[in-house]
Amino acid sequence: MTTKKPIASLSLDLDNKWSYLKTHGDPEWERLPSYLDVVVPRVLDFLRARNLTITVFIVGQDAALDKNRELLRAIAGAGHEIGNHSFHHEPWLHLYSEERTDTELGRAEEHIERATGQRPLGFRGPGFSLSPATLRILARRGYRYDASTLPTFLGPVARAYYFMRTRLTPEQREQRKLLFGTFAEGWQPLRPYRWRTDAGELLEIPVTTMPIFRTPFHVSYLLYLSAVAPRLAVGYFRAVLALCRWTGTEPSLLLHPLDFLGREDAAELAFFPGMNLPRERKLELVSQVLDMLSTRFAVHTVGAHAEASARKPHLRVRVPRASRPPHTRWASSRATTA
Ligand SMILES: [Zn+2]
Repeated sequence: MTTKKPIASLSLDLDNKWSYLKTHGDPEWERLPSYLDVVVPRVLDFLRARNLTITVFIVGQDAALDKNRELLRAIAGAGHEIGNHSFHHEPWLHLYSEERTDTELGRAEEHIERATGQRPLGFRGPGFSLSPATLRILARRGYRYDASTLPTFLGPVARAYYFMRTRLTPEQREQRKLLFGTFAEGWQPLRPYRWRTDAGELLEIPVTTMPIFRTPFHVSYLLYLSAVAPRLAVGYFRAVLALCRWTGTEPSLLLHPLDFLGREDAAELAFFPGMNLPRERKLELVSQVLDMLSTRFAVHTVGAHAEASARKPHLRVRVPRASRPPHTRWASSRATTA
């Protein structure tokens, strides 16, 4: 007798080198340095070898550059779902006015569709940034789901670590003061639910954290743990999956390009947690983690996860409220479109 495996979803936020330098406050970002030519083929090969179809959230600024078109089209061509990851990748997106948010998301959508041939139906905010305005705009634009929540109590801890490792101007500190979220975000639901906005409804597929404890387990976090204690990371992930099965939680797991890059690939990003590991060791752990996930769950795109959730009766309904209050509105950034 075979038992049907519960569903899980897998996604990759295709953050580029420039977006990390930007969040880090390094002016070098303005030249838009890229590693997509290395990362995209490597990720596609890796997923093909494991027969995995996932969602890739693309940054509009990268889609707007001609030199990236072919790479990005190859992602859609391999059957992966394409999502919108904003245009400028500013983790303080929740501070934008509604009008500016609409321009930001619309511009990203337009370039992403032109580059990949696929219109995104899912969105993930940079740095898990989300506001009621964003949800209204997504509903108005006909998006099926948002995937920008990370229900963890550790947001302020991650932020303290980040501030410790960066040198920022007072203005940059102000922009980033709620980066990675507030403690209260730890109480957000772990299971999919429905957002009800005055522009319509859409689903929320949270990036899953460990049931009960609400600690993150996205692959970058596991790699960070493994840099400290290699066996701990695998044991922790095994416990997370067991707890997901036990509580009936269908996990949505998140990947980043840096999970596929070792210290020999991006020396400028040495400040990033887990970037002291060599490529081989990282790929080995990513492989192990994804094998563990596929053994226990049927792995799909976030879009498929959203469709399966939408069919469930009694899905919880929430009305958006600002969890990171908009203190200030920021002048536009200086990123360029070529
Ligand atoms: Zn991102």
